[in-house]
Amino acid sequence: MGPGPSDVHPRVLRAMATPLVGHLDPEFLVVMDDIKLMVQETLQTKNDLTFVVSAPGSAGMETCLVNLLEPGDEAVICINGVFGNRMADIVERCGAKVIKVEADWGKTIDPEAVKKALASCNPKLLAIVHAETSTGVLQPLEEISKLTKNAGALFVVDAVTSYCGTHLKVDEWGIDALYSGSQKCLSAPPGLSPVTFSQAAIDVLDNRKTKVQSWFLDLTLVKNYWAGAKRAYHHTAPISAMYAMREALRIVLEEGLENRFARHQKNHELLRDGLESLGFEFLVEKQYRLPMLNAVRIPEGVNDVEVRKRLLEEYNIEIGGGLGPFAGKIWRIGLMGESSDANHVNMLLAALKDVM
Ligand code: PLP
Repeated sequence: MGPGPSDVHPRVLRAMATPLVGHLDPEFLVVMDDIKLMVQETLQTKNDLTFVVSAPGSAGMETCLVNLLEPGDEAVICINGVFGNRMADIVERCGAKVIKVEADWGKTIDPEAVKKALASCNPKLLAIVHAETSTGVLQPLEEISKLTKNAGALFVVDAVTSYCGTHLKVDEWGIDALYSGSQKCLSAPPGLSPVTFSQAAIDVLDNRKTKVQSWFLDLTLVKNYWAGAKRAYHHTAPISAMYAMREALRIVLEEGLENRFARHQKNHELLRDGLESLGFEFLVEKQYRLPMLNAVRIPEGVNDVEVRKRLLEEYNIEIGGGLGPFAGKIWRIGLMGESSDANHVNMLLAALKDVM
């Protein structure tokens, strides 16, 4: 019940034990095709350039940014937690200029501030985190997407924590590049990053004047392995992790996206009611709370480390501590994918009553 990785269904664990084939084996190409179709469906996109980066969410983040930015470009980066800061760091390493739109941790990014920032520069893209795992904030995206489009920039979204846990409509919301992770609400093992790119993003990639800074993440090379008829060797894919990913995606679609989102919301509300009756306060305003990551203030006089240690050692329950300015001040309780479960919630509430 931490901020990820989440629990994994036994079917997914079993899939990982499937005998290995080669990464160019016809059987494995079928696995890749299945994954691509199911990632498109779960992201609600028709984007042809939709695939899985063979590395964790941070590599998905770098894939989006290093492919779309060249030295001298300007990028508006929205920062209200750890992961906005990480994006800004990557943009600087691309040799591009960062124009920051900041909000206090625990608050959403204000569209008015975005509008001003977009007008102050010549933005190639705007990047924003949909679900800030460090604070539990759900960022509304549609208005900011429209502002970004009006400014002629690409709209880039971090959906590592929101993917498969709450509404996320890539095409309808005008998202041009998006990355996620396998280990949160999808409930697959960590280490893979689903990504998708719109035609507008591909056009930017096709018109680059300089080589992409990273060889491994260069889409002009990777796409020959994932897309088109060539299926050229690029790197040795993590075969077992892909088997697991396919099974996890099947489970999501068997449940149905709407049912899955409703389950996440229901268990969030169960936890919220229980925590509030124990006297906890949520960090984030009600309408912007993530259903899969519950950030609550640690009550006065309660020892953060001691309580989390006892939960882990005596009850086998992991919850997350705070990061940055919230270290020692909040707990982050994950209800992601398989871990979004009423039994988990009731067990944690009972354990907290005991420990505190
Ligand atoms: N973005 C967000 C919102 C995250 O929560 C995380 C990880 O927790 C990442 C990016 C980075 O993903 P990874 O740890 O898989 O590299």
